[in-house]
Amino acid sequence: MFEGTMMDFPLTTGHLLERVRTFFGAGEVVSRQADRSIHRTTYGALYLRASRLANALVRLGIRPGDRVATLSWNHARHLEAYLAVPSMGSVLHTLNLRLHPTELRYIATHAEDKVVLCDRSLLPLLEKFVKDVPTVKHVVVIGDDGEVDASMLDYEKLLAKEPEHFDFPTLDEKSAALICYTSGTTGNPKGVVYSHRSTVLHTMAVCMNDVLGIGEADTVLPVVPMFHANAWGLPYSAVLTGAKLVFPGPHLDAISLLELMAGENVTMAGGVPTIWLGILALLDESPKKWDLSAMRRMAIGGSAAPPSMIEGFAKRHGLEVIHAWGMTEMNPVGTVARLRREHAGASDAEKLAVRSSQGYPVPFVEQRHTSDTGAILPWDGKSMGELEVRGPWVVKGYLGGEGKDRFTADGWFKTGDVVTIDAAGYMRICDRSKDVIKSGGEWISSVDLENALMAHPAVLEAAVFAGRHPKWDERPLAAIVWKKNATATEAELRTHLEGRFPKFWMPDAFIVVEQVPRTSTGKFLKTKLRELYGEMLMKPGVTSP
Ligand code: AMP
Repeated sequence: MFEGTMMDFPLTTGHLLERVRTFFGAGEVVSRQADRSIHRTTYGALYLRASRLANALVRLGIRPGDRVATLSWNHARHLEAYLAVPSMGSVLHTLNLRLHPTELRYIATHAEDKVVLCDRSLLPLLEKFVKDVPTVKHVVVIGDDGEVDASMLDYEKLLAKEPEHFDFPTLDEKSAALICYTSGTTGNPKGVVYSHRSTVLHTMAVCMNDVLGIGEADTVLPVVPMFHANAWGLPYSAVLTGAKLVFPGPHLDAISLLELMAGENVTMAGGVPTIWLGILALLDESPKKWDLSAMRRMAIGGSAAPPSMIEGFAKRHGLEVIHAWGMTEMNPVGTVARLRREHAGASDAEKLAVRSSQGYPVPFVEQRHTSDTGAILPWDGKSMGELEVRGPWVVKGYLGGEGKDRFTADGWFKTGDVVTIDAAGYMRICDRSKDVIKSGGEWISSVDLENALMAHPAVLEAAVFAGRHPKWDERPLAAIVWKKNATATEAELRTHLEGRFPKFWMPDAFIVVEQVPRTSTGKFLKTKLRELYGEMLMKPGVTSP
């Protein structure tokens, strides 16, 4: 090999920390606190507090490679942990506060967490499992008011005792930086260990103009939780570029978010479709109430963003949605649905179709899809198969060597998403493989049906899932949530769908529900729907088209 003569400079979070202190010390970090008040700090102050936190953790016995867990909402102190823990050579494990205590106990035990930094408001949850996690030596309570139990430590008091200087070590870029567990609905959650290198490369990719496009002039609101897949890398991207950060704390209702967006002149926000459906409904009700003129784009992903929502934001409120796909197993952003030059002359409907696909891969992520027999499928926009990905921020194995069946012999990760890919490389998710509906051997896309149903003016949310059927094996069933003060008849819903899909795709039943059950990360929980309604077609006398 004729070797390059350039430096082997490690890609580590410590660089983000030093950079933000050196260049963006005055940059603002705004958090809404549990009591709804607004807390303001700067990156300069945050750097000093991150240094204090690192000193405190060393004093508590945390060594390189040790796991420090957080059980926290999105706020500045969580960012302190995001910066201090990996940069000191330890590993940040973000616990998902929406999980059941039994799952949290399993995860914290599996990850061998030594310290947990926990929001005061989440102590009731922590107390349900932490005593059963043998590795946990200290609980540190984050939150200003009130005393803490003698068995725990107070975050502020702990930091107050520490010096504002910490010698952040030079680390190997391949070393572990963060851990996040998958939120699968079957089997035990599996640990994904992000390296410094994967985290830094992903952060830079996220900032790219054609990815989420984040720069110093931005004000970024990560609505997506910091306990879920690094909040899509938004906090690190803001730190890298010096963008202002705005955190919503525990207040994720549409009104609180709109207030923050308007009040802080947010230019870029990211979150799952459910949150944005709520925001759109409120904006439609009171279009003039909030001034969102600073907003440049809203990244939506985690589950499929319905085209009617993307269009609704654009047409009725002049707001751009960027649809993105990603996974816990990948740091997490994988594809983004951006228009390209070739779409310049396309009709509005064609552009909407492109923008509501899951998009094409971001640089350094590669995609392919394969059939049941493992054959690589053509990019023809029609052939459906399981999406496989590889790249520098794609997992190569789960913590503890679990889930070996998710990796192919030639080094790709099997995502479990059933997709088509068109000739231009745009990927479309039709289903999760475990949610696929197979009727009489024919495959029906629940995502397409959901998108069409959510375009009906009375429908707020629709989840289509498989019901067991005596003749056809499975038939689609649709769970519907109405918009406020709206309903439609079943016949109207059927008319709305007719002509768009083959007749055999038509759901056998529409079930009106108050709320679609969700996973801990806000995705439709179809296993629950199947459990509740999946047998309804098995009763004698039921026929279907
Ligand atoms: P998680 O690891 O919890 O983030 O879940 C990852 C899964 O969420 C993916 O494998 C997809 O099934 C789903 N997902 C993420 N983004 C999208 C999207 N934009 N459209 C449809 N499904 C998505």
